[in-house]
Amino acid sequence: MAELEGLEFGKSDFVLLDEVTMEQFMENLKLRFEKGRIYTYIGEVVVSVNPYRQMDIYGKDTIDAYRGRELYENPPHLYAVSDAAYKAMKRRAKDTCIVISGESGAGKTEASKYIMQYIAAITNPSQRAEVESVKNVLLKSNCVLEAFGNAKTNRNDNSSRFGKYMDINFNFNGDPTGGHINNYLLEKSRVVQQQDGERNFHSFYQLLRGGSDEMLESFHLHNDPAAYVYTREGAAAATSNNDRTSHKAVMSALSVIGFSEEEISSIYQILASILLLGNVQFESDGESVQVVGLEAVQHISQLTSTDPDGVCKSLLYRTVATGGGEVIEKGHSEQDACFGRDAFAKALYERLFGWIVSRINSVIEVKDYNPVLHGKNTVIGVLDIYGFEIFDNNSFEQFCINYCNEKLQQLFIELILQQEQGEYQREGITWQHVRQTQTDASSLDTLTLLLWLSPTDKTMDFQKHFRIRHYAGDVTYSVEGFLDKNKDLLFQDFKRLMYNSSDPVLKEMWPDGQLSITEVTKRPLTAATLFKNSIVALVDKLACKEPYYVRCIKPNEMKSPVLFDDARCQHQVAYLGLLENVMVRRAGFAYRQHYARFLQRYKMTCEYTWPNHLMGSDREAVEAIVTQHGFQDDVAYGHTKLFVRTPRSLFSLEQERAAL
Ligand code: ATP
Ligand code: MG
Repeated sequence: MAELEGLEFGKSDFVLLDEVTMEQFMENLKLRFEKGRIYTYIGEVVVSVNPYRQMDIYGKDTIDAYRGRELYENPPHLYAVSDAAYKAMKRRAKDTCIVISGESGAGKTEASKYIMQYIAAITNPSQRAEVESVKNVLLKSNCVLEAFGNAKTNRNDNSSRFGKYMDINFNFNGDPTGGHINNYLLEKSRVVQQQDGERNFHSFYQLLRGGSDEMLESFHLHNDPAAYVYTREGAAAATSNNDRTSHKAVMSALSVIGFSEEEISSIYQILASILLLGNVQFESDGESVQVVGLEAVQHISQLTSTDPDGVCKSLLYRTVATGGGEVIEKGHSEQDACFGRDAFAKALYERLFGWIVSRINSVIEVKDYNPVLHGKNTVIGVLDIYGFEIFDNNSFEQFCINYCNEKLQQLFIELILQQEQGEYQREGITWQHVRQTQTDASSLDTLTLLLWLSPTDKTMDFQKHFRIRHYAGDVTYSVEGFLDKNKDLLFQDFKRLMYNSSDPVLKEMWPDGQLSITEVTKRPLTAATLFKNSIVALVDKLACKEPYYVRCIKPNEMKSPVLFDDARCQHQVAYLGLLENVMVRRAGFAYRQHYARFLQRYKMTCEYTWPNHLMGSDREAVEAIVTQHGFQDDVAYGHTKLFVRTPRSLFSLEQERAAL
């Protein structure tokens, strides 16, 4: 529980509310937001409200104030949980994780960056060069991943369009020695199409607006995003991101991380190829289909170091194996050719993104770690995954994103309950179990069932929409394109073309291009199944770590620093299960504290402990304080901690302490 700040800022821990009602919860949340107190605890969980303005609370002074301190010694802050996770990792050799959740625009990515900055700031006091370089790569990776994985959406100008889980490894000194990034389902459909008012991934605009004249010229590009089909919708969309300066920052981050010049130029050549590919059109004379504007194809082949005829051919034909084992070339219809082109563009981008992540991983992976020599290698994981989202038009991506959020919410509830129960057990205290029924297991089952739908399933063809009752609200999904996205078909001809590229970077991204058409599996796993498997693996990874939580709330839809939209906020509080969280935390004992710490804080309020400690053990001294203040019926004595049932008892102590 946080240090009790002046009450004019509201209660710094929701556990201290007089009554746990939605009304009181919201009143406190709003008051704190209005007073510029964006963080509030529920026990050890941080509730954060996006301030939509620069706050002067992340500087070096603040870092120093939180470093090595306990949660309740300072006002609530991300730094306090970061420190708690770090201490647990360092002192108790626990693997920990910080799970950041909340809807799109609620502030998850910003929070994850502050957490990483904090960890970077408090480690490696002796400035060892190898450790500094690991920290540098970890921090710089954010800039690169945001450029390639984030985009302006109608909800957030810098929305993460992929999920990210980053492990940071530490040696026995508590200094970072490396890390690993897992990325989840990049929303690749954005490469070829965006909703009104949205943009493609930042990287494209950064290249066009920030690339040097020589670079653009050698790529055969204009500097105007409106000239390209894939970026023209978003070209006019205002954004607070300055593409030109970002481009420089990304280029520099790439080289700091250790990408070679050849690699960097391959990355941008691939981006350029995608833009040019989008402008390739087809025409049909009724018999066969032709490419309009062969120049673009020439340029693509040059940029991808492939044969121009090969590029043209894979855009117009596909190789198929007949039932009799014969291999033939089949010409595309105009529609198939467009589908193939877009699928190719999406796949190029997705593989580029995946390759960038694995390349960063190869730089930061822990090498030569010998646990016998160096002690246990511990981990802090940071999860920043796309928040629950409802758009006007919800498709396959929203379905996966919302499924993932549903899974994580379920894990949160299970772990919070488990943690409480575990603590009482460890301390030898009995309590009544509280059951939470907030996530309905059956709704997850429905999702699972839908995910298993095979791509050939026709059940969905009869309806245009289907609706799912998620924990965070009802979402109507559009069937159009849903099954295609799930099937995620890319003609083998493109894969082979890329595998045969003489650019080693590109070739490396397409190992499956070496398969001949007869070797290709007929029923590959669907995108949903792959995604589901990756989320199940993620949940397993989180479940074996000691979790810390940041629950982000978006105060309004206008990105306003002053508007607290009551209904929107209340909705988020409800579906994040924050009220239940407070109830669980208070079900037994609202407050718990190690005897020594409690004594330290309140010794001056009791004649047996101040000015001299007249009691034997810390526990006896604490008993004396409690008894003198007459709330002995409101507490339980654990093995190492005092548990207080109602916050009121504590208030009286705090008041007395303040009055002294
Ligand atoms: P998504 O799920 O779409 O990725 P998100 O939860 O990651 O959303 P962020 O990108 O972190 O949201 O935040 C959206 C915007 O809100 C930021 O670009 C920034 O302008 C503002 N913001 C968020 N947190 C803070 C903060 N602590 N201080 C100042 N501004 C913030
Ligand atoms: Mg984000």
